[in-house]
Amino acid sequence: MKKTFVLFLCLCLLLCGCRALPVTTASTGTTSKTATQTDNRSEKTTTTSESTSTSSQTTESKTESTTYSSQTKTDPVQTTEKTASTSATASKTETSRPAQSGTGIYYQGTGPVVVIDPGHQLKGNSDKEPNAPGSDVMKTKVMSGTYGRFTGLTEYELNLRVALALRDELIKRGYTVVMIRETNEVDISNAERSQIANDYEADAFIRIHANGSDNASVNGCETICQSRSNPYNGDLYDESRRLSQCVLDAFCKSTGIKKRSVVESDTMTGINWCRTPVTIIEMGFMTNQTDDEFMASQSFPAIAAKGIADGIDAFFE
Ligand SMILES: [Zn+2]
Repeated sequence: MKKTFVLFLCLCLLLCGCRALPVTTASTGTTSKTATQTDNRSEKTTTTSESTSTSSQTTESKTESTTYSSQTKTDPVQTTEKTASTSATASKTETSRPAQSGTGIYYQGTGPVVVIDPGHQLKGNSDKEPNAPGSDVMKTKVMSGTYGRFTGLTEYELNLRVALALRDELIKRGYTVVMIRETNEVDISNAERSQIANDYEADAFIRIHANGSDNASVNGCETICQSRSNPYNGDLYDESRRLSQCVLDAFCKSTGIKKRSVVESDTMTGINWCRTPVTIIEMGFMTNQTDDEFMASQSFPAIAAKGIADGIDAFFE
């Protein structure tokens, strides 16, 4: 009887022990995971401030390409670490970049003022802002954008590559150029981007984007402006429409990308806040294999920039 009781007691202890073990393991696991996340976050903050203060063009675009390929090929934790270390290395050699303050980077020329907005940024900002001056409609400040389904290239990086090539092309042609951003590590909302264009009294505001669709066969370029009845800037419709048409025609001629059409929309924050002629160019579909692979190619930014610049020339003729 006594023996049976002792055996039963042992069995109880054993069972309790087994149950206790996984619980301990799980809680240890959670703790270490939290620690890792915190570390990554602090690394990221450092990266942002480092990239903000410095850098030169060539090194920067190399860094960004590396970042993009590491993002597509590794899990999120590794990505963050890789991004941080790559950027940190790059910033040591970069010294000539103007500070990024959300106020635009200015290049004085003799010609009209063209403000270039490379759409999106490394991380979207899901906070809300009015989609027009005095509007009750609140929209996300800035989305993270789409990505190449076949190449893995992010839209914010593609937009930046083309924008930097366009900047160089326009400077060569004598324009005064203002860049909304020259790095992916910024936080500038769509309304703020338009206000920068307003502050510089842009003669043309070019917002560079790429498209996405659930249907992989959809391809081609379209440009977007407000409608004539837009309550905020319908008075700028004629100029914006003409700018959109000029850019669409010349871009498609230069790149050979299929010409879709000029689309009119009054729901877009980045258009509604504009007091300047504005166009959004959706260069092609990152969800279409032909468009995606072409836009991700090394030769694309220069070809695209030439096309957009030809369109801008035509607009000012
Ligand atoms: Zn976009």
